[in-house]
Amino acid sequence: MNGERRVEIKLGDLCNNRCPFCVSGDQRDAKAPWTPLARVKGELAAFRARGCGAVGFLGGEPTAYPWIEEAVACARSLGYARVSLCTNGTRLSDAAFCARLVAAGLTRVTVSLHSHRPEIEDGVMTRVPGNHARKVAGLGHMLAWRARGALRDGVSLNPVLNRQNLEEMNEYLLFAKGLGVADVRFNFIWPDDLLRGWRAWVPSYREAAPRIVRAIAFNERRVGLRLSFGGVPRCVLRWAGISPRLAETLADRHLDEATLDPDNDVSIPSADGGRGDRFVWQERKKSELKRRGPRCGECRRAQDCEGVWGTYAEIYGLDELAPV
Ligand code: SF4
Repeated sequence: MNGERRVEIKLGDLCNNRCPFCVSGDQRDAKAPWTPLARVKGELAAFRARGCGAVGFLGGEPTAYPWIEEAVACARSLGYARVSLCTNGTRLSDAAFCARLVAAGLTRVTVSLHSHRPEIEDGVMTRVPGNHARKVAGLGHMLAWRARGALRDGVSLNPVLNRQNLEEMNEYLLFAKGLGVADVRFNFIWPDDLLRGWRAWVPSYREAAPRIVRAIAFNERRVGLRLSFGGVPRCVLRWAGISPRLAETLADRHLDEATLDPDNDVSIPSADGGRGDRFVWQERKKSELKRRGPRCGECRRAQDCEGVWGTYAEIYGLDELAPV
């Protein structure tokens, strides 16, 4: 990123998958239609003028946006050096579409493939038959472009870590390596909207920590990918039963949100020409969406830490958090 400020621009809520853990919620497809392209171009110009050099497009599903190629091309023409899509990957199975995105100037793509097993990906996670095969084909197209020198900022995988894939991270990492992906980030599930209180999907950190440490060790021994975890506070690694020193080392390498996720702006333009919403995502998480434990004030790493999702605390409380 070269320290360049980043903005994420939301294009709308519509999507071509049906993940039960979708943060856009159960009313997703009933929400306002897509943001008009003129509004997106206006936000691109405004944030470029503020000094942003990197942009990502958010949904819903950004590849389903009818003017996604124009939005990418506009970003590049305004001088954004890094233009990325975080996508469910379904539409990337269309090779001609991938070629048009690359020609428009896309530099990075992150694909939310949640399981190496089609029956889990299609049957439980995204609930679209044949989706796993389409995502894998799409990754193949984008990795081929990367091998030809395009997509200079990389192709990565961004699975949501939840109870359906918690026990299978090692197999997933081997699968990712087999595809030719170099970078995997598991994002701990955010129990929002539909999932609120749903333990069948949301593991506790106490349960997840030993699996996370096992996956890190397996990756170091056998796989060698760049591996990180989002939404996991560093103090919970102690639940893996490892020494405090090792926990610190692993957290520095694989968990540190402050290092891995520098502050970024978010723009949610209104579809109807209203003012829309602009905020800094990390500040909104800290002030509204995340919670600290009663002892976090004593923690050496409190400065870098966001705590846990408030909705996670509704399920499991805050007792797992203990000062580092
Ligand atoms: S600030 Fe709180 S949640 Fe974060 S690492 Fe420290 S004790 Fe854990």
